[in-house]
This record gives sequence, C-alpha cells and structure tokens, in this order.
Amino acid sequence: MKKLLVCLLFLAGNLASVLAQNFEKDYKAIESRVIEWRREIHQNPELSNREFKTAEKIANHLTALGIEVQTGVAHTGVVGILKGKKPGKVIALRADIDALPVLERNDLPYKSTVKANFKGEEVPVMHACGHDTHTAILMGVAEILSNHTDKIKGTVKFIFQPAEEGPPEGEEGGALLMVKEGVLKNPDVDAIFGLHINSQTPTNVIRYKSGGTMAAAQKFVINVIGKQSHGARPWSGVDPILISAKIIDGLQTIISREAELTNEAAVITVGKITSGVRFNIIPESAEMIGTIRTLDYDMKALINKRMEEMVPTIAKAYGGEATIEIKDATDITYNDPDLVTQMIPSLNKVAGVNNVQTQKAVTGAEDFSYFQREIPGFFFFLGGMTPGNTESFPHHTPDFIIDDSGLLLGVKALTEMSIDFLNK
Ligand SMILES: [Zn+2]
Ligand SMILES: [Zn+2]
Repeated sequence: MKKLLVCLLFLAGNLASVLAQNFEKDYKAIESRVIEWRREIHQNPELSNREFKTAEKIANHLTALGIEVQTGVAHTGVVGILKGKKPGKVIALRADIDALPVLERNDLPYKSTVKANFKGEEVPVMHACGHDTHTAILMGVAEILSNHTDKIKGTVKFIFQPAEEGPPEGEEGGALLMVKEGVLKNPDVDAIFGLHINSQTPTNVIRYKSGGTMAAAQKFVINVIGKQSHGARPWSGVDPILISAKIIDGLQTIISREAELTNEAAVITVGKITSGVRFNIIPESAEMIGTIRTLDYDMKALINKRMEEMVPTIAKAYGGEATIEIKDATDITYNDPDLVTQMIPSLNKVAGVNNVQTQKAVTGAEDFSYFQREIPGFFFFLGGMTPGNTESFPHHTPDFIIDDSGLLLGVKALTEMSIDFLNK
C-alpha cells in the first residue's frame, strides 16, 4: 500500500512537471521580451487616467496576437478577450498600468525623465509602484496563451486597468469604474487573478494570504461644534478642542476594547485636527480627518457603527455637538479561501513549494478589491528584490527598484493558474 502511494505521488509529481513543461519553450522565448517591454514602459510612465501611450502599446500587442480588443474602458483601460478552442469558464487576469508623481533617483539606462501635469503643476513621473512590471507580465501571458488556444477550455479576459493609484480629483476611474462599465460581464467572469510585484520580497518567491489580504481604506471627517468663549473663562463656553481629545480617546477604545483583534487587525488614525486662532480664545468648532483600515467585513461594519454612535454621544456628554461622515476609498482585498486552496498547487508547480509562502495582512489598500467584491479573486505578491539585497527601497519612493529577473515567475504563475482553473 505504501509502495502504491509512493508510486502515485511520484506519478503526480511527474505529471505536474510535465504540465508545467508544456509552456517551458514559451517561457524561455518570452522572458527577454517581457523585460524589454517593462523597460520601455518604465521609461515612458503615465499618470492615472492619462495612460494613453501605454494603452496604445497594449492594444497594438493584443491586436497583433489576434485577441479581441476593447479600448477606452474606464477612460484608458484595455480589455482583451481570448476564446479557447473548447467552451468553458471565464477567467480574468488584471494588470494595473499607471505611474506616480515621483522623481526617479535610480541610475538606470531606462530611468524615467518624464514630466507631466498633476493638479496644475509640472511633476516628475515614475513607475514607483511597479505597475510597469504588471503590464509587461500580462502582455507576456497574453502572447503565450494566444499561441495555445487548443489548451484553453473557456475564455481568458485580460484586464489592463488604469488609475489604480486613484483618479485625479473630480474624475472617476480605476477598478470601480471598470466594474461599473461592465468589465466583468459579457462574457461573465467566474474568477479573477492579479499580482503585485514587491520590492522587498526576493525574486522567485511568491507570498499570499487567504481571506483579508489588503485593507479597506475609509476616510472620515468629524465636525465638532462648541461655544466660543474667552480662554480665561472656559465655564462660559463649550470647548471643542477638549471634546476632540475625548473623541480621539474614545475612538481608540473601539480598536483596543471592541474589535476582535485576534480575528484581523484594524486601525483608526486621526491624521489632521484643525481648530482655533490664538492662545486666549476657546474656538467655536474643530474638524478632524482620518482613516480607518479594516480587513474583515464584519469588523468594518462594527467599527463604522460604533464610530457613528460614539462621536455625537461624546460631544453631547460635554455639552457640544459633533457629526461624523465616513466615506469608502477602497474595499477589502479579500482572497476567496476556496479559490486560494484550489490555486496553490499551480503556484507550487511554478515556484517550488518552499518559495510559495504565506504572509501577514497589509494595512495598505488596493483597488483590485472592487473586482473581488463582485466575484471570487486571488491577489498575490511576486518577489522583485535581488536576493541578499540589504538596501531595498519601498514602493512610492524615488529609489524604488525592481530586479527584472523576477518577472518570468509572474508570467508562469498567471499562465498556469489560468490553464489549471479553466481545465479543472
Ligand atoms: Zn502604489
Ligand atoms: Zn501598486
């Protein structure tokens, strides 16, 4: 019996490597081109909702591959639809394509020297979050899969998404607008995969978390109304600054005393307080703005509800009034646990079991969450740091740098995941 089991395991292992080897030639052929595309895109970065040339490059590539192309989706987004030879499910793969107003400090042959207009000012532009790598990786996956439609049972939708970093003020954009414009419909998408390069994870490593992976980001505004008086005579007024202090204190007890922190982490941060004009006047009002980060839908609802109850109640207890307004900025990047379990073998196959690692939740946010609010999705992190590098710089900074040798694993991961998902 043991022998049979060993034999079966051996066969299964071999089968997995044979399946992975189906595309081995394609992977070898595509790597240098993916790196070349990435460098071209890196050198020509474009800000959110202004990714005109990037979109054109993607659309030209997909069209040349014979993929059905839609342009102008959510302003500058490009969507490719690749139908397999056999009917089946629909999988979507998403890459974000926008850059940031950051001055590149790296000394690279493909360094960005681009400038653009941002909020009426001329700013330097840099792919400081690595979306150039996502774009190039997905262009590579599209090329490989378009050469193997005989192996595709169903349809692959390639979603090149603009404005992940947020559209300019007063504009709509990003994943939310793509969903609104029906990107997950016609044909209806069953599941979606996405990845994010990481400058502080070594190349050839993939990291993921099941469930809440990146936080929902919400913004809140609290207005406190008191009664103005002389600073020397507080008893003749109502002090909105003191009330603000009590509110901040109260809000932190929602996190420390009411949120079930062993479930997931949660954060409330008051980032700005505005009140008063001079030392001897108790002002009439105060304003506080801040952010809430949550990784669990129930905790999010509880924290929102308790903040809405607490803010006016605390103000009332001290003789004043207060209102709170909470606005969603980004939802929870929630990895569907069943889908994660289903796809881990595909990741193990391309990266090796030891290189597929679980990780802690991230309290930063990702608008991939808007796709996951509609359908099951799996978003994971791809290593982009040269192994052993002791000075790797975080995303959104001028020294942010990615080791190109990490990109091929991203191509392999999305290719194998798509085939495995559709053929199951
Ligand atoms: Zn970013
Ligand atoms: Zn990003």
